[in-house]
Amino acid sequence: MSSPTHSNRLTLLIIVAIVLAIVVAFAAPVTATGFAVGGDIFLRLLKMIVVPLVVTSVMSGILGLGDVRKLGRPGGATIGYYLATTILSVVTGLVVVNAIGPGKGIGAEALAAASAEGAENERAMEAKEQQERIDEINKELIPLYVVRSKYRNTGEPTPATDRDIARLEAELKELKSESGIGKIVSNLTLMLFTDNLFKSAAETDLLPLIAFSIVFAGMLTTLGERVDGLTSLIDQINHALMQFVLLIMNVAPIGIFCLVAAKFGKANADGTLAEALAQIGWFVLTVIIGLSVHAFITLPLILWVFTRRNPYRFMLDMGQALLTAFSTASSSATLPVTMETAVRKAGVKEKSVEFVVPIGATINMDGTALYEAATAIFIAQALGDAYDLTLAKQITIALTATLAAIGAAGIPEAGLVTMVIVLNAVGLPVEAIGFVLSVDWFLDRFRTTVNVLGDAMGSAVVEGTLPDEADAAPA
Ligand code: ASP
Repeated sequence: MSSPTHSNRLTLLIIVAIVLAIVVAFAAPVTATGFAVGGDIFLRLLKMIVVPLVVTSVMSGILGLGDVRKLGRPGGATIGYYLATTILSVVTGLVVVNAIGPGKGIGAEALAAASAEGAENERAMEAKEQQERIDEINKELIPLYVVRSKYRNTGEPTPATDRDIARLEAELKELKSESGIGKIVSNLTLMLFTDNLFKSAAETDLLPLIAFSIVFAGMLTTLGERVDGLTSLIDQINHALMQFVLLIMNVAPIGIFCLVAAKFGKANADGTLAEALAQIGWFVLTVIIGLSVHAFITLPLILWVFTRRNPYRFMLDMGQALLTAFSTASSSATLPVTMETAVRKAGVKEKSVEFVVPIGATINMDGTALYEAATAIFIAQALGDAYDLTLAKQITIALTATLAAIGAAGIPEAGLVTMVIVLNAVGLPVEAIGFVLSVDWFLDRFRTTVNVLGDAMGSAVVEGTLPDEADAAPA
């Protein structure tokens, strides 16, 4: 069913579908938007198998290792790879945006207009209110401190003032801890746990499902023959689901045509993209240059150094997954295709793909991290002299962009939501998010493609650290 020629033909058909969709979107935008239903059906087909596929493939990966303790080396390598590539990606974003300076000279008028648009963004407004309350409390505290120090000198008690100070300081601490890096890290840790597996499954909340699958399968490996039926069932379901992905991929050219035609058609009908490109085209180009450096230089170098594989051949082999990522703008929806393509076309060991790719689709987002860092600096540049962009702030941006990318879900435009964390951390006006609102969906396609490429290459890098027995079929 998936001979190399069949598969190559499919990749070619998908490319033709994307080009055709863009042509239709420009020639007849309104008609193009009518294809939305077809796109939705394709998305649903992919998304409906994500949860069972992730659960059974992660479990089957661990069962194939035979013992969860053997996860130490590949586990460490996976986390190391995710972190190193995300940080390299952020640094690339910072270098490119500082070198090109797309935000310089944007002008106060454009800034005001963009901020007005951003003010309609709910998350941005929440963050803004929080910052305003912090400023307010700071202002209230100053006269109270003056009163307290005066009375201290006279030795008289000032219970009312002390009480007010204590109350305000407590509120300040609470507000600050809500947006501090400590809080972000603790929120990310909490994301690993759920109080209801079914709720997480229903919401495609993959991280806790993966955490559970690792622990559960690890436990199964200690139970021996008593759970033979269960372990082979898990393996069979996994195998059948991977086969099912192949079936779905047969309609991928149609699905992808519909998705791209509808989205580009809508943008063209609204005229928003052309308008935005005219205004912040430099910014869009800067992000695309940064993403290209990461995708065509950094990641390939890492792959070559660790595996001696030809990285560009690897990219071609991963073509179907990369094109699906571009069309869906969702790492999660692309996940079944990424896994299937990595195993069958790029020839990465199944055990490595089963373990590295599902986790990567949820936490390893190089493209998103680069985009968030670059956008924050772009906004700072647009503010000009009104904002002092120190080196310390750039470092904070790098750090929070990494965390924000880890926290972003693998769904369309998730990066825009977690961007609030980055802007808040360095005191940039969150409503300036309005600047990038109209191009976010467009850049989302490019960054999601890089996210998926990073996951696939990660599975090839980690492959080398797997114990040899991992090749053996699960018991
Ligand atoms: N859409 C991206 C993804 O699914 C996340 C983002 O918005 O950056 O990987």
